[in-house]
Amino acid sequence: MNEIAREILLKYPDETLFQNAVMDFVDSIEEHIEPDILKLLLYPERTIIFRVPWVDRHGRVQVNYGYRVQYNSALGPYKGGLRFDPSVDLDVMKFLAFEQTFKNALTGLGLGGAKGGSDFNPKDKTEMEIMMFCQSFMTELSKHIGSETDIPAGDIGVGKREIGYLFGQYKRLTNSFSPTLTGKNIEHGGALARTEATGYGLVYMVDALLDHHHDSFEDKNVVISGSGNVAIYAALKVNTLGGRVIAMSDRSGYVYKESGLDILAIQKHKESGKKLSEISDPSVRFVFELPIWNVPCDIALPCAHENEVNELHVISLIENGCKVIAEGANRPLTTEAIEEIMKSDITFIPGKAANAGGVVASGIEMRQNAQFEHFSFEHVDRLLEKSMYEIFKDLVDAAESLGERNNYLKAANYLAYKRLETSIKSLGVI
Ligand code: NDP
Repeated sequence: MNEIAREILLKYPDETLFQNAVMDFVDSIEEHIEPDILKLLLYPERTIIFRVPWVDRHGRVQVNYGYRVQYNSALGPYKGGLRFDPSVDLDVMKFLAFEQTFKNALTGLGLGGAKGGSDFNPKDKTEMEIMMFCQSFMTELSKHIGSETDIPAGDIGVGKREIGYLFGQYKRLTNSFSPTLTGKNIEHGGALARTEATGYGLVYMVDALLDHHHDSFEDKNVVISGSGNVAIYAALKVNTLGGRVIAMSDRSGYVYKESGLDILAIQKHKESGKKLSEISDPSVRFVFELPIWNVPCDIALPCAHENEVNELHVISLIENGCKVIAEGANRPLTTEAIEEIMKSDITFIPGKAANAGGVVASGIEMRQNAQFEHFSFEHVDRLLEKSMYEIFKDLVDAAESLGERNNYLKAANYLAYKRLETSIKSLGVI
């Protein structure tokens, strides 16, 4: 099986993120994969690359690349976020779309997998430039999406503001108020608690794990990387459940407070556009250029970026007594880091399962839109918690059926693969 995968992947030697994601998947459940299904799973169904021309604040023409990788639609319409970040390229998009396909399968919602975005950097742009860019991006993307075809959402660099501009342009071009995007503003049919869902969902899943072991978040020290959407709402939920978030990071470094950070203050600080290094609270220590994973903790939640945790970081976490690592970001752990975990007694929940809360809330938004309804925050939150507990229960059952109790990486890959395999087979070779 490895040979089939290698042969296909070697045709694209520059796509290292994609290759690593595929090879880790194949390695973990090789004995359960059928060769013909694997071949179909190694190619995206469709890859769209387009140019996005726009005019900057000085009246100069700028051009970025736009991408949409429609990876697999065996289970339903393509679904996955849009990322605006300078690091975006075809490799990043294919890797994220591959992971999304399995994540969506795990939710049981009947959604295919996709990912898209652009190498546009919204961080150094004006409001007007962001609107112009979103309109130009959607002018092309609109030809390839639809409420029964492909339903994009946000990701890094694409929040409610960008979704608003993208949806506005889609509405103008198609002359319809079709719910083709999720993560919309409430007045456009967005779901309450969608913003919170990935971070909350991550913590609900860890809570389900702790509960499974007759334990809880009470008095646990938690380290969270990042201080963006996923990280902040994960941190707020950890506090609600009785845990203590002692360290958080951004691109400038990390902040640490032994008695627990004031998350609302950090949220306010970050929302004002400042770096963590600019926090002036004397009770908070700022650490520059050292990995946050040196901080001793019970639970580690990487919520920043892919490949942010390597094997040395994992060794440090193990030596410092960490017991649980759950991925809030998409594949924040390298292959070598995961290998280290598998040799240890750390319990690991992969992002495919742990960060599925955003997809779950998107599913709720789609249901809301179809029924012309608006659910309350509490209702969405309850559905989210229930879904994350159910996904975890499915992982426990799958791990037991594989005879590998606690191996939630293998369980997630196996469960998602089996759901895809059944559907792909029944559709024929298409
Ligand atoms: P945000 O852009 O809101 O936040 C990302 C955070 O990570 C920021 O604090 C950023 O720092 C930090 N960061 C980014 N790159 C680096 C880096 N190279 N080194 C150190 N810190 C870094 O993104 P999200 O919170 O939305 O997403 C985070 C991760 O979660 C991504 O992998 C995303 O794909 C994944 N994810 C997100 C979902 C969602 O619903 N938003 C759903 C599922 C997965 P700074 O503030 O300095 O920029």
